[in-house]
Amino acid sequence: MPKLKITGIDVFQVDLPYSGGVYRLSGGREYRTFDATIVRITTHDGLEGWGESTPFGSNYVAAHALGVRSGIAEIAPSLLGHDPRRVDRINDAMDAALIGHEHAKTAIDVACWDLFGKSVGLPVCELLGGRTDVRMPVVSSIYMGDPKDMRRRVAEHRAIGYLCHSVKIGGDPVEDAARIAASLADKKPAEYFIVDANGGMSVESALRMLRLLPPGLDFVLEQPCPTWRECISLRRRTDVPMIFDELAMGDASIAQLVADDAAEGFGIKVSKNGGLTRGRRQRDIGVAAGYSMTVMDTVGSEIAFAGVLHLGQTFPEKNLRCVLDCRTLVSLQTAEGDVEVVRGRVEAPDTPGLGITPKLEVLGNPVASYS
Ligand SMILES: [Mg+2]
Repeated sequence: MPKLKITGIDVFQVDLPYSGGVYRLSGGREYRTFDATIVRITTHDGLEGWGESTPFGSNYVAAHALGVRSGIAEIAPSLLGHDPRRVDRINDAMDAALIGHEHAKTAIDVACWDLFGKSVGLPVCELLGGRTDVRMPVVSSIYMGDPKDMRRRVAEHRAIGYLCHSVKIGGDPVEDAARIAASLADKKPAEYFIVDANGGMSVESALRMLRLLPPGLDFVLEQPCPTWRECISLRRRTDVPMIFDELAMGDASIAQLVADDAAEGFGIKVSKNGGLTRGRRQRDIGVAAGYSMTVMDTVGSEIAFAGVLHLGQTFPEKNLRCVLDCRTLVSLQTAEGDVEVVRGRVEAPDTPGLGITPKLEVLGNPVASYS
């Protein structure tokens, strides 16, 4: 094939305001804006590919926005001249320049997939294995609050067609049991509930909470505790199905998850998991293990969501729990894209590459350029 060569990498920085004012997570963590890094890769023939990496603050997982841009500074010079369509080789080159720091590699990896798609006139999902005909269920995000209020917010999402709900809890066993009971009080047969502690519980508080719940509640527990040891300890002592999120960070942790029989599935957040090349591999490990998986991102705008959509669109229906529309968390639009959630479901766009057109007036001037 005629070679395509990377000739420039530009880095943009944008603050994405949280659409709901203040986002509260377990452990007293609060978030108001998210620091997004957006990358443009240009090739010798003028094609452009785009990618985004937006960590959820610096105290969510081991990823932070300054680290994204510092990581790109380490990596970018060694990618000039490479063919962006050789995505595994691009990742080899990134790993040779910098160990770990998957969140920094994501924006570059996704931009290479966007270029790959544009260069052959195909949407990224077709290159990742091929589009399924699944209209993917979008998960609601029911932030932690007063139980009655959480029940009302579940009902609001139910009314517009959402079948999958992610109910956030915070670590106090009595309050959390009340939140779960209220959120599931009106559960319909086709609905699916995730109870997400974001690693905010000790084994003791999780066990106490589970014993306080009314019998027969149908949910899976997501990332109950912050460490691997605690999650395994809890798992030995309860029959509640479990899924990993914050601790499922990359290929090695996914392999460990299977080896330890530590969960029934996991969440792929494209940026924390290292982009689409690694996401594709983690999808395949999960499928082989019989897992169900959520495809999402830590947070992010249209560009990040496009990566979520194209990866999610390649999951067999039985292995795809849901996708998260991370756009709803932020109030700034960084790109145009023809993607609409209809009755709680969504599909990847049909246009070449990621199918988005960045708004240059929103991105401003690059904060760093490598050529
Ligand atoms: Mg989660």
